[in-house]
Amino acid sequence: MRMTAAVMYEQGLPTPFAESKPFRIEVVELDGPGQGEVLVEVRAAGLCHSDLSVVEGLRKRPLPVVGGHEGAGIVREVGAGVTTLAPGDHVAMAAVAGCGQCRACRSGRPGLCQAVSAARGEGLLATGARRLRLGDQGRLNHYSGISAFAQYAVVAPQSLVKIDPAVPMDVAALFGCAVVTGAGAVFNSAKVKPGATVAVIGLGGVGLTSVMAAREAGASQIIGIDVLPEKFDLARAVGATHCIDARDPDAVEQVRELTNGGVDHAFEISGSPAALGMAQAIAARGGEVVGVGIGRTAETFTVPHLNWVSEERVLRGSFMGGGVPQQDIPAYADMYLRGRLPVDKLRSEHIGFDQLNKGFDQLRSGAVVRQILLPHEF
Ligand SMILES: [Zn+2]
Ligand SMILES: [Zn+2]
Repeated sequence: MRMTAAVMYEQGLPTPFAESKPFRIEVVELDGPGQGEVLVEVRAAGLCHSDLSVVEGLRKRPLPVVGGHEGAGIVREVGAGVTTLAPGDHVAMAAVAGCGQCRACRSGRPGLCQAVSAARGEGLLATGARRLRLGDQGRLNHYSGISAFAQYAVVAPQSLVKIDPAVPMDVAALFGCAVVTGAGAVFNSAKVKPGATVAVIGLGGVGLTSVMAAREAGASQIIGIDVLPEKFDLARAVGATHCIDARDPDAVEQVRELTNGGVDHAFEISGSPAALGMAQAIAARGGEVVGVGIGRTAETFTVPHLNWVSEERVLRGSFMGGGVPQQDIPAYADMYLRGRLPVDKLRSEHIGFDQLNKGFDQLRSGAVVRQILLPHEF
């Protein structure tokens, strides 16, 4: 079929993106679905910070690629051998998809599946196929096995999670990345207990979801930290008990004072080494730093050796929520429907394809939380 999609040919173009146009809106060909694949009509797709870091060229990707890794839509066709989904099902598209067979997948950690992350790195679907074409100019790459900045997507069923149709599409779109990552970091990785103290550095879509999840887990203090105080009202509305400007010279002292020596769990969502340093400085003795934001390829950071050992600190990585999206997303959707995880508050605005590049300028400025591309509406 022919459809409209946002294609990136080059990474690291200069800002503003509204002018350099990293995404070109093209009519492309989509094949399939083949054996073990599903055709989804994409109804909504979120603009995420990790898309931005690919636009900026911080992590290299095979090009050209159709972008987008957080979306929701309706199943329109299933390929041979697909038994878990049927046309008409509402689905969230999740960037974590395991093969289901390997040791990581069998132990409930599909985010660590090597086979699928290798396929992702080569611009392929989890099935190893490539279904996108640009006329006679040849194959286009898939992004994270999803490519949701398009009117339709062919994906492997492992990348899809059936979701209650009561969840609006522009909210469902957030579950596959922002929600599963932010909530999973709290519930699966840190296993926050009632009464625990928590700090969240970086109050975008993922961080605000972590704030909501920490409230749901019963954390006694939830300290939101960001360089943009404009975000504090929303953070307080979803559960932050205190907010601190990361640029305050005494920001670390303020956290240590509020919490009597530091937090049990310091979530670092922004992906910056400076913020990781702050997370280490505000973690209590015996506390942990939970790294959620993805850094640049090959970037390193420093850990104070003595203090790490003698104060029994934990340094924990949490990738895409560290859980099983097929189990976690329906649970989080149920919490949303019961008003326990108000992730609809993350939505900033709806945009069309022609506003996509400008949308990344806005995301970069921090002025918005989650802009939602509606591929059929504009
Ligand atoms: Zn994302
Ligand atoms: Zn696997």
